Amino acid sequence: MRGNSFDLFRSKGLHEVDPTISDLLQRELERQRDSIELIASESFTWPAVLEAESSVAGNKYASGFPGRRFYPGCELVDAIELLAIERARTLFGAEHANVQPYSGSLANEAVFMACLEPGDTILSLPFHQGGHPTHGYDANLSGRLYNTVSYDLDRETSLIDYEQVRSLALEHRPRLIICGGSAYPRTVQVERFREIADEVGALLLCDMAHFAGLVAAGLHPNPVPLCDFVTSTTHKTLAGPRGGFVLCKAEYTRALDDAVYPVLQGGPLVQSLAAKATCFEIAGSEAFASFQRRVRENADRLAAKLMTAGLEVVTGGTDTHLLLVDLRATGWSGPDAERRLHEVGVTVNAISVPFDKRQPESTSGLRLGTPALTMRGFDQEDMSEVAEIIVGALDESADLDALAARAASLCERRPLYPGFDGYCRYSPGSQAPVRRDNVFAMDERSKRWPLPISAIRVASAEA
Ligand code: PLP
Repeated sequence: MRGNSFDLFRSKGLHEVDPTISDLLQRELERQRDSIELIASESFTWPAVLEAESSVAGNKYASGFPGRRFYPGCELVDAIELLAIERARTLFGAEHANVQPYSGSLANEAVFMACLEPGDTILSLPFHQGGHPTHGYDANLSGRLYNTVSYDLDRETSLIDYEQVRSLALEHRPRLIICGGSAYPRTVQVERFREIADEVGALLLCDMAHFAGLVAAGLHPNPVPLCDFVTSTTHKTLAGPRGGFVLCKAEYTRALDDAVYPVLQGGPLVQSLAAKATCFEIAGSEAFASFQRRVRENADRLAAKLMTAGLEVVTGGTDTHLLLVDLRATGWSGPDAERRLHEVGVTVNAISVPFDKRQPESTSGLRLGTPALTMRGFDQEDMSEVAEIIVGALDESADLDALAARAASLCERRPLYPGFDGYCRYSPGSQAPVRRDNVFAMDERSKRWPLPISAIRVASAEA
């Protein structure tokens, strides 16, 4: 890169300026295309969202909120953020939305900053039973600042034991009760939590990061009317950009906004606000609802097929997009099974199952989710094939090459981002094919002022 000039940097795309990173990004696209992606917290976002996310909006500083920024030139940013707020509020029926959190973790921390004092008590599902570290786990800031009391799942059913939640609430009088988590496959009965919170005078937070897409599609009860605060990510079932947001009752508007900025964050990622606005717009459509219905059907089919083949699925199935496979009756630990599946092109993550005796680094479970595969068009028949590949791979005498070939042929049949070239190409000398020469497009105006423009293009749209 040393020989490159300032003018080249100002006018060329990633491939010309940094072919090494360009190659790695292109290969990441190929990796995503070539594997059976079952990580429950991931999805593949829409090309429109990718485009908004990599746009010039990222150049703008906009600390503050619409109409009260610390920088001039925010008229268009205000319009973008107001749209994101309005769309989030409409989608979930919320009184107030803050769409600035950089992540789901910061969305949770913002709620704590808005309504808790250090030393206050939180009642939540523990991390090793499906909660999230930011719900008061001792290794997280939340666990250091607040006093966490945990409710366990029922030992027999692995479901939330609402009676236990109530008795812990009566005993410890928490300031905040948290429901929702990262690995709970069943419907969260928010109305039960509301009753308990009311009985002890606690605030109620639902972290719907995992199932927000199902809520948007009417496939999981909406926690918003029942909760003081609802947090979420935009990148799991919602299939939007990486990021978080918080919904709350109007009375907490000021406290929440102050907690996001300036207490926790600096200026918002404006490109991310734009991408969130697009994500919320799409999530309100009938096409999105039907996508989420397929996410659910695919999860049911996957669970059913795994159980028929003799694997144990925690709670006997799922109400959501995710399921947990309990490997305790097999010889596999979670990480060994994760590695084995990786060898045949299936990506899942190892996780603790409820009352796991293994340590968190050597768990007894796998967490599987269907949003990513459903996004690329996998149907229930495909999910049966995926289940067979998983079951086959966990057989000690498996023909791994044959299973990998089956996985590859599924991926070929259900292409990811068909026609989309990404914004990178391989550098000369790379073994992989160069897909297209001119991927860095410039329009007439940008030639006069040669700054890089957003270069993501759907090839079919350009053709
Ligand atoms: N809340 C829940 C329930 C999650 O599952 C996650 C992430 O997996 C988060 C919050 C945190 O999201 P992020 O990784 O964006 O900080």
